[in-house]
Amino acid sequence: MLTRRLRRLQSFLSPVSRRASRLARTQYDVIVVGGGHAGTEAAAAAARVGAETLLITQKTQTIGALSCNPSMGGVGKGHLVREVDALDGLCGRAADWAGIHFSVLNRRKGPAVWGPRAQLDRQRYREFIQSELLSTPRLTVVEGSVEELLVEEPDPERPGRHRVTGIRLANSDRQISAGAVVLTTGTFLSGSLFVGQTSSPGGRIGDAPSSAGLSHTLRDRLGLRTGRLRTGTPPRIVKESVDLSLAQLHPGDSRPSPFSFLNTHTRCKPEEQLPCYLTLTTPGVERVVRESLHLNCHIQQDTKGPRYCPSIESRVLRFPGRQHQVWLEPEGVTSDLLYPQGLSMTMPPEIQLRLIREIPPLRRAEIRTPGYGVQYDFVCPTQLSPALQVKSTQGLFLAGQINGTTGYEEAAAQGLWAGINAGRSALSMPVAALSRTESYIGVLIDDLVSRGVTEPYRMFTSRAEFRTSLRPDNADLRLTLKGFEEVGCVSSLRYKEAIRVRDAIQEAIAALQSVSLSSANWKKKLPACNISDGRSGCLTDISFDMLASVFPECFSSYSEFSQRLKIEAVYRPHCDKQRKEIERIQREESMALPDDIDYWSLPASLSQEAREILDRVRPSTLGAATRLEGITPAAVVNLFNYVNFKE
Ligand code: FAD
Repeated sequence: MLTRRLRRLQSFLSPVSRRASRLARTQYDVIVVGGGHAGTEAAAAAARVGAETLLITQKTQTIGALSCNPSMGGVGKGHLVREVDALDGLCGRAADWAGIHFSVLNRRKGPAVWGPRAQLDRQRYREFIQSELLSTPRLTVVEGSVEELLVEEPDPERPGRHRVTGIRLANSDRQISAGAVVLTTGTFLSGSLFVGQTSSPGGRIGDAPSSAGLSHTLRDRLGLRTGRLRTGTPPRIVKESVDLSLAQLHPGDSRPSPFSFLNTHTRCKPEEQLPCYLTLTTPGVERVVRESLHLNCHIQQDTKGPRYCPSIESRVLRFPGRQHQVWLEPEGVTSDLLYPQGLSMTMPPEIQLRLIREIPPLRRAEIRTPGYGVQYDFVCPTQLSPALQVKSTQGLFLAGQINGTTGYEEAAAQGLWAGINAGRSALSMPVAALSRTESYIGVLIDDLVSRGVTEPYRMFTSRAEFRTSLRPDNADLRLTLKGFEEVGCVSSLRYKEAIRVRDAIQEAIAALQSVSLSSANWKKKLPACNISDGRSGCLTDISFDMLASVFPECFSSYSEFSQRLKIEAVYRPHCDKQRKEIERIQREESMALPDDIDYWSLPASLSQEAREILDRVRPSTLGAATRLEGITPAAVVNLFNYVNFKE
């Protein structure tokens, strides 16, 4: 797969801006605005479901740009990448192609919460995404800035519901019509950049913000509620000015695991991986932050920033007197820069230099580009349906940072889902649904549309109630079949592969269950195994390879699945129990809730927020409670148990 990709890429290495099309038509099924992580997945997905799709983005050469960190995946985020891949999205394969350091985070915990992660070569990532888009059938890519959405006034029969009919490009009267439009403008909507005491309009360094016309359409014409969020990025540091011998070396995994279910290995060989380095801040860092607060207008503002990816200013002010981790990460194979993860900052450039030089390996460091902050508008996502369509505007879909999320993976997951549904709705097919019991993408979307955001939202495994079933290793079995059979976004090649894997795993499990020997016979055949419990004769310390050596006729053909089978075996009892709980909940949807229920006397595990909502709305059935904004499946389980077992 990777060799074929290499050949294809070589023929695509001319810049995308030269290869991007001139607009030949004025009518498409779907228009996607923005070529970031949400927009690229949306455009490819809409085209995959059969829609004639146009991707319009400000600069084609920045399609697939990693605006901030040169990495993909991690705990929770890695699950999203695997799921996007299982639905035939781009980011998993792009990360396998561009990865230069792979590691699985959280290995000390169970495989359900392992976090596959890769450091990426920025240029290779962009090249992959661009070549993939340019070779996607039914997809046209053009450079341009969208100034305005074309909107039909509400149908008198359905007051309050507008319909989007297309877009108008900036600096021209050019209008292009479409059955659906997906907006993925990231940090660009009314974006402002901040360094020190200066601020200027911008969506990202070197890029203009989205035009005011777009904000005007969303807010004033469509009446959408918007809010403002912020984020920031660290300075980029010249690698040869850093004394890496003073930092702790972290090599990649000895056997890099690919993100994509279509890849058996990554492009980068294990021995070619570039290391990351870990170092710590010193008290000098805190001193510089405190001394320069009055020169740092980004940090002085009330706008909410990413709590889980905070600036160094926020970290030292929130946790004074502590040392904070700083990871020095490679930016690419040929790049001479390091990305200091953990040092996002917005003070004046000369103070940024003073600050980083307080950290031992960075004592003589040089900055190539200073850190900066960005503030931008987002649309409150409770105004969207689970298909990511604006409830009050038919045909308008939103995905990515515009919905109040942060991170490439969250953007890619939403982009994929919005693109699928925009394509389906433009082709007059019903929109597809993905629940939080079957995927992290479902969790992400349900959280956004039912709870909204008050600060930039990022994915964690703790957000998924059914996380032992929603593992990175089984995303293909959860989603690829549905993606092909019900949604229409998966190629037959990937579908066939998922069927092969599913059948082989089912056969291997049946074969495993059919082997039955007495403890004494097990001990004879496998002297190295332990019998942990005399009564049940439970065997421990047996690997699949050991079993295959004893029963080659039963198991040797399944050795490629040994890791997956082991994980499956560990989680099977728990997942079976969980599946029954999910099915029971779905059956009990119609269960009546008594009028006089005292929500304040429910078990302490029900959150304060859930009690308030239930007490205020007083839903009449369990199903109605399930659909309330802010009521999670965990709260519904609580409620179900309380009503059912109260007597
Ligand atoms: P983007 O990747 O921002 O893409 C938006 C695209 O839309 C761009 O290609 C733009 O050119 C295009 N566009 C915008 N308006 C128009 C228009 N009117 N017409 C045509 N095209 C348009 N993420 C983290 O997880 N942690 C961080 O710490 C972090 N820090 C960040 C710091 C900075 C300074 C920036 C800029 C981003 C940061 N990010 C961070 C966010 C990360 O880059 C985004 O989450 C991710 O890129 C969002 O993807 P997106 O597709 O929604 O938008």
